Amino acid sequence: MKNLLKVSLLALLAINIFSSRFSFTEEDLSLPSDNKWENIHSDYFIIYYRPDAGLKRIEKRLEIRRFFTESDPDPLFSLQKRVAYRMDALYGRVREILQMYPKDVNAKIRIFKNRKELDKEYYRIFREKKSLKSFYIYRFNTIYLNEEDISDSVVAHEMGHAVVDHYFAVRPSEKIREILSQYVDIHLDDEF
Ligand SMILES: [Zn+2]
Repeated sequence: MKNLLKVSLLALLAINIFSSRFSFTEEDLSLPSDNKWENIHSDYFIIYYRPDAGLKRIEKRLEIRRFFTESDPDPLFSLQKRVAYRMDALYGRVREILQMYPKDVNAKIRIFKNRKELDKEYYRIFREKKSLKSFYIYRFNTIYLNEEDISDSVVAHEMGHAVVDHYFAVRPSEKIREILSQYVDIHLDDEF
């Protein structure tokens, strides 16, 4: 009897160790898989980028379409701050177009070096091969971009997804979500 108790106790202990180890090693796939990432906190986002990111080019690509903003960033701002400023301006514009102002979206933005790196990340998360310019994952509340394909249109589209997904109590169907995001892109530089 005593032995049986010992055995079952040991078995319980083993299960415990196994399960705790399992949950311990389960990774949070929304976080970078390595620590070679810098980040900037803007008013609405945490923007992650590679230390060798071409921020100047990124800034330019976020300004292809001129639209009215109340003010331009301070010219003395660092490049990081200017990119953050532009992301926030785009976000303001997206909310204005959709007339949706969800609270506390606090999304993350991750800018990968190129399409190949982004494809790798997609595979790491979904175990499925796909090549996309950009995507948004609601579960991780993260907008995924890459330096090669980044533009204000691409960013506004994904921000549209983040806004729509946080606005409704029940997320609309995928088709409706896509239509709304495309609407944002189409109307980005309309006069209001
Ligand atoms: Zn979309």
